[in-house]
Amino acid sequence: MEKFGVMSKRELMDELIAEIRVCRKCRLWSSAKNPVPGEGSLDASLMFIGEAPGYWEDIEGRPFVGTAGRLLDRLLTSVGLRRDEVFIGNIVKHRPPGNRDPRTDEIESCGPYLDRQIQIIRPKIIVTLGRYSAKYVLSQANVDFTGIVEMRGRPYKKVLLDITADIIPTLHPAAALYNPKFKSLLEEDFQRIKTLLDDMH
Ligand code: URA
Repeated sequence: MEKFGVMSKRELMDELIAEIRVCRKCRLWSSAKNPVPGEGSLDASLMFIGEAPGYWEDIEGRPFVGTAGRLLDRLLTSVGLRRDEVFIGNIVKHRPPGNRDPRTDEIESCGPYLDRQIQIIRPKIIVTLGRYSAKYVLSQANVDFTGIVEMRGRPYKKVLLDITADIIPTLHPAAALYNPKFKSLLEEDFQRIKTLLDDMH
């Protein structure tokens, strides 16, 4: 189909979501109930990137709606942010069976969708949740990933995919559910994210 004129962010995202719905680039579509493309404001300054949908996300087709999602909601609320003013997505768009870790080829197949989402939204701050998304996003900015615990909580101001953004790796909320130490580190990182965001406005 030929395209005329400039497409809006909404049109570009809808086109991308339509592609994700019929994606067969890796095996995950065959065991998943629904794709989880991500949701939120396309004009968000702040974008959160998790790992992959889990049980409830697969059923609802929405990101972070299970237990880890409730913690993410509380963390957002604690720094005065609402879900609808940020964008929340994942690196892998279909649920890995039994919530296993995403495989390298699955991340490689799905990564370009995330790249396009970043290029559409053009966030000022990208917060990666957990090591898989940190590793992927930092690699797009030519930063070597040396470990989530040592890299978390500080911004890497970088050019990636033709945009300049602060990439802030933090822990995955699921890891903090049963570990109070990780929970307080996440809370600390969210305060830093808020300060960085406020300083930009
Ligand atoms: N964990 C993730 O990484 N993403 C989700 O959407 C839900 C749980």
